[in-house]
Amino acid sequence: MRTRFAPSPTGPLHLGHGFSACTAAAMAEAAGGTLLLRIEDIDQSRARPEWEALIAEDLTWLGLSWPRPVMRQSERQTAYDAALDQLWAEGLLYPCTCTRRDIAEATRAPQEDTPLLGPDGLIYPGTCRGRDRSGPRPKEAVLRLDMTAAVARCAPDALRFVETGAGLAGEHGEITLSPSGLVERVGDVVLCRRDMATSYHLSVVVDDAAQDITHVVRGRDLFEATAIHVVLQALLGLPVPIYHHHRLIRDAAGKRLAKRDDARALAAYRAAGLSVAEVRALWSDPQG
Ligand code: GLU
Repeated sequence: MRTRFAPSPTGPLHLGHGFSACTAAAMAEAAGGTLLLRIEDIDQSRARPEWEALIAEDLTWLGLSWPRPVMRQSERQTAYDAALDQLWAEGLLYPCTCTRRDIAEATRAPQEDTPLLGPDGLIYPGTCRGRDRSGPRPKEAVLRLDMTAAVARCAPDALRFVETGAGLAGEHGEITLSPSGLVERVGDVVLCRRDMATSYHLSVVVDDAAQDITHVVRGRDLFEATAIHVVLQALLGLPVPIYHHHRLIRDAAGKRLAKRDDARALAAYRAAGLSVAEVRALWSDPQG
């Protein structure tokens, strides 16, 4: 059993991150497995070494340990390029030049039966889908996955995963993804951003496989994204880990904790003199 905690060093870890890391660590310990730390710093405009240092400090304070060296996504571009090259060569990616505004305008057309929002926000209306896919993969371009072509390429029994936690609607157990649901409710997601030459979805899938992760433990807010990850694993011939999406830590008003909510930063509680047990009590939930 190998799991990971994969924070982005773009701000301080808050209570929700602490809960996530400790949940993963407890599951690893119970199974006699290993917890890895992976630094998801593909967004170089926001990642800072001082946040990364604070992450290590906070996790150590919580009593966690992990093998070194730590995988850092900013050092993994070669692996992401190889995956993008493979998908491009198979004709599954196309360049997209739409702005957010173009997408918002194109999706404003009445489509009452189709949901507008997918895991990454507005479901892409397909404006650039007919663009040229021949020749070498364009660099410094936004590349989208043609979801219709992608699901057609996947073996039908590949589109499934096991959830040991719960999704937003309580999904649990063996979950089968429907190809038409992927097309209609997820759509042509971005796999390569112009500013980072990869994307969260592509990198997380490539790295979970590279680190032999058997169990992905993370917050329920990423449950919907798992469908994208399972499609990519099928296309790239990568193993599908077991997924465990845990509850989210909310503030007293029921709002999900955000990264900017510095008052809930683990470092702030630490500086205020709280013990680890007192911090753990803040996220313990009598209802489980
Ligand atoms: N880096 C992501 C985050 O900080 C987590 C990715 C994952 O666990 O799959 O939200």
